[in-house]
Amino acid sequence: MKCQVCGSEDTKVLESRLSDGGRSVRRRRCCVTCNHRFTTYEKEEVFAFSIIKKDHRVEPYSRDKVFRSIQTACQKRPITYEQIDAMISRLEKAVQDSGERTVASQRLGDLIMDSLHGLDKVAYVRFASVYKDFQDPSEFMREIDRLDTE
Ligand SMILES: [Zn+2]
Repeated sequence: MKCQVCGSEDTKVLESRLSDGGRSVRRRRCCVTCNHRFTTYEKEEVFAFSIIKKDHRVEPYSRDKVFRSIQTACQKRPITYEQIDAMISRLEKAVQDSGERTVASQRLGDLIMDSLHGLDKVAYVRFASVYKDFQDPSEFMREIDRLDTE
């Protein structure tokens, strides 16, 4: 993203938030060269593929939905918006690189769990508990034990 004053490509993001119902990202940026501050509205590239649910229903992939599910798992954890954003971009790229147009919701969930595992163990267990639909606390404990033995 170019600075509007000096044209430098070197800008840093001060703040990001979703706007336009999650269809674009509002970013406060600061030029590293001249310190000019400006706001951009960046449309996320529309990334189209379909998700096949467990009950075989097919629905369009929604970045917003994935974002919310990860954000819920990351509540009160030291994880920034940018980290989640970057994580989803990596997931999308993995799917894109595989050349698939449809992805099983289970595979997407596994990819998210893998990423969270490397990022934050608490968020990982929280996400796993929702995603794997833990029925009782013992399953929760098993997952935590598994983390400990690694
Ligand atoms: Zn500048």
